[in-house]
Amino acid sequence: MVWDDATDVLIVGYGAAGVCAALEARAAGADVLAVDRFNGGGATELSGGIVYAGGGTTIQREAGIDDTADAMFTYLAREVGDAVRPETLRSFVDSSPDMIDWLMGHGVPFEASVCPYKTSYPDNRYYLYYSGSECSGEFRALTPPVQRGHRAKGRGASGKMIYQPLARSAARAGVRFRPHTRVVALESDGDGRVIGVRARSMAHAPLLIRKRFAAMASIAAKPGIYYPPLRRVLERRLDALEHRYAREVRIRARHGVILCAGGYIANQDILARHAPGYTGGLALGTTGDDGSAIELAVAAGAVADRMDWRPRSGRTTRPSPARNRIRSVSRGSSPGRSSKVRSRCWTCRSARN
Ligand SMILES: Cc1cc2nc3c(=O)[nH]c(=O)nc-3n(C[C@H](O)[C@H](O)[C@H](O)COP(=O)(O)OP(=O)(O)OC[C@H]3O[C@@H](n4cnc5c(N)ncnc54)[C@H](O)[C@@H]3O)c2cc1C
Repeated sequence: MVWDDATDVLIVGYGAAGVCAALEARAAGADVLAVDRFNGGGATELSGGIVYAGGGTTIQREAGIDDTADAMFTYLAREVGDAVRPETLRSFVDSSPDMIDWLMGHGVPFEASVCPYKTSYPDNRYYLYYSGSECSGEFRALTPPVQRGHRAKGRGASGKMIYQPLARSAARAGVRFRPHTRVVALESDGDGRVIGVRARSMAHAPLLIRKRFAAMASIAAKPGIYYPPLRRVLERRLDALEHRYAREVRIRARHGVILCAGGYIANQDILARHAPGYTGGLALGTTGDDGSAIELAVAAGAVADRMDWRPRSGRTTRPSPARNRIRSVSRGSSPGRSSKVRSRCWTCRSARN
């Protein structure tokens, strides 16, 4: 097989998951190349920038909040039900303070400014708040409510303050990043071991075209997320540019390919199969959330699980793009939000009830 590039570890998709994996692989001494279909940042950059963490993080301690790993585990175990194995949850909880220190070590800014009341998203005075349902009746009775929502410091929806410092840190550490490169297949050897990827890359397109592609990808992400007709137009144009200018490239990965290419809220077929109630909602995510990483993995022999997982109970909110307002729907009906954010929305809503 002829390869256009080679690396030890290849990261597919460069949002929070991708950049964190890249940093860790690099810290372990690997040569790392990350590719992204668009500009990088993904849904992470559009997000509210809230990291759920507790058990006595540096920021909680600075704010005088008394939290323990056991209290966090007890709350989360009830909240997530059987969506996560107990040992996975335990490991998430026990490593939570270290995770915040790790993020801060890579430049993500947090602040011990405590929001004293329950809100779905705090204003710019507050960066530590009740992002879960800890204050609601059932949960309040379980463990004393504490603020665990660590919001990256920055005005408005501050997800960019998570992605951008991490991406800068990764660049400093020597991670190579190649945007505008969509992975379309995993390459395997005769034994079925994944040894690289096949991708469609805009790297060889004229500079002006690449700039246009980057600008359209950025607008499709936001404001396109809140105005689907605009996003659809831009998606068609992005596809046309890719069709005309992208070149096929093969990238070899000597030690592994890590798939971090988001969810499937932008893929109506997968939605209809696994989460039919969500098809009419606002696709809170990016165009890249088309389930491609899941499909690539399945094609390579992986087994997907929990594709249709949803919260066990509670009410959810459904944003209506047409009417530009929030409409509540009753238990068991269809939330219109991304699978990636629905549990967060659910917790906000159930806390108010
Ligand atoms: C508006 C909004 C607010 C949110 N707020 C919060 C919050 O406050 N707290 C919270 O915990 N979560 C929040 N979420 C959810 C959170 O943002 C996501 O769960 C998280 O960012 C997912 O990270 P990721 O790295 O898995 O995916 P992403 O950040 O989406 O990154 C995936 C990347 O993969 C790329 N990609 C896709 N397909 C390919 C391919 N075939 N080849 C190459 N690249 C590809 C995409 O272009 C994208 O850049 C929010 C989401 C949204 C949309």
